[in-house]
Amino acid sequence: MDSPLGRLPSVDLVLRSCVGAALIERFGRASATQAVRQSLARAREVVRQGGEPSDAEVIGAEALARLEGEAVSTLRPVFNLTGTVLHTNLGRAQLAQAAIEAAVRAMREAVALEFDLSNGKRGERDEHLRALVCELTAAEDATVLNNNAAAVLITLNTLAGRGQGAVVSRGELIEIGGAFRMPDIMARAGARLVEIGTTNRTHAKDYEAALAEGDIGLVLKVHTSNYRVEGFTKEVPAPELAAIARRAGVPLVNDLGSGTLLDLSRWGLRHEPTVREAVAEGADLVTFSGDKLLGGPQAGFIVGRRDLIASINRNPMKRALRVDKIRLAALEATLKLYRDPDRLAERLPTLRFLSRKAEDIARTAQALEAPLARALGPGYAVSVTECASQIGSGALPLDTLASAGLAIRPVDGRGSALERLASALRRLPVPVIGRVSEGALVLDCRCLEESEAFARNIAALDAGAVDALA
Ligand SMILES: *Cc1c(COP(=O)(O)O)cnc(C)c1O
Repeated sequence: MDSPLGRLPSVDLVLRSCVGAALIERFGRASATQAVRQSLARAREVVRQGGEPSDAEVIGAEALARLEGEAVSTLRPVFNLTGTVLHTNLGRAQLAQAAIEAAVRAMREAVALEFDLSNGKRGERDEHLRALVCELTAAEDATVLNNNAAAVLITLNTLAGRGQGAVVSRGELIEIGGAFRMPDIMARAGARLVEIGTTNRTHAKDYEAALAEGDIGLVLKVHTSNYRVEGFTKEVPAPELAAIARRAGVPLVNDLGSGTLLDLSRWGLRHEPTVREAVAEGADLVTFSGDKLLGGPQAGFIVGRRDLIASINRNPMKRALRVDKIRLAALEATLKLYRDPDRLAERLPTLRFLSRKAEDIARTAQALEAPLARALGPGYAVSVTECASQIGSGALPLDTLASAGLAIRPVDGRGSALERLASALRRLPVPVIGRVSEGALVLDCRCLEESEAFARNIAALDAGAVDALA
């Protein structure tokens, strides 16, 4: 009767123990009961294998550890030290303080989202951004959708969704990544892809010939965000293309990708075509993202001709692709920062990171060299290094920004040591994401502003354990 299995406590006994009470207090009775059952099942297994039966406190502690583990969000904040500022897999733009506060207010309160406060009638959600976007881009009208992929999809569907042709140069039939391929989007939008020219050269006469065939819904110009064809190339400049499309009575749509609202050369970056320029060059519609160079939350804008925007707004897809009040609030606050370009780099994290000088970044790296070396122990050599950051999200793909960071090398470099170090850094309370380059794990400090929080975080590295890995 005193079998080892019989010496295990009951679920009830564990729940009535000290740790059991704590479990119920923190996670509720249902979760606590389930976790204790799981721990007991494991304990029974241990006993069957010939192990000792655990007591109520041990089983309760195990259940607590499991529930605590499950309570941690998988959408964890991380230190993005990859050197890619707008890292799509790490959530792209970090929002400005003003945008965060606006989003929080919109989450907490009822807001006049589609409500006209002047007359008490139903309003339009695009109203909150329309004037602001038009002011910043000199466009006639504007609308906003879930993301730029949605903006492109609804534009194609509205202008060519009944099988009309969408004329695109073969040099611009891009894949953005994450299954966003221009030909696939076209097919789903119901448009007929009319490819013209070749990968490296497309001429005015190619557009003219396609337009002469008739039943064309739009001419699409796509900013080849993530690659560049160099050498023997030819593309038709936007103003010339606009004139060709206008003569044929067909709208020209320019998918810019990154929505740059101001000339970045002002901050020492390479000039990237701005939305205002694309509008001025004669595009009838321009589409761009909210969370790339613009530095806001995920969104897609369409700006341009009022009649075309009105047709887009009548498309039932608009309802399926619209943005919610939280993002509208964050977008409005982000766009308002652009009214004061002098202080934009200070307030908008994306621009602040991108315009940071290498010397300043190097100072951050120098300050963290010793704390990092201490946390890693003698198995690793840490040094300050020059490195090159990227803008990311396809913007200016060939341009890199001079930066600085920390290079970590295993002292007696066995092959997998770096991978295991990278893995240990990902397991920190705030995971640290770097980049493996030339036998070192490089932590680019461009996006690192919270040096002290970083130092406290790496102090949690178990030096002994990391050392053993090396
Ligand atoms: C990034 C990009 C898109 C997709 O935009 P999302 O905001 O990621 O949906 C579309 N077109 C171009 C040219 C892009 O660079």
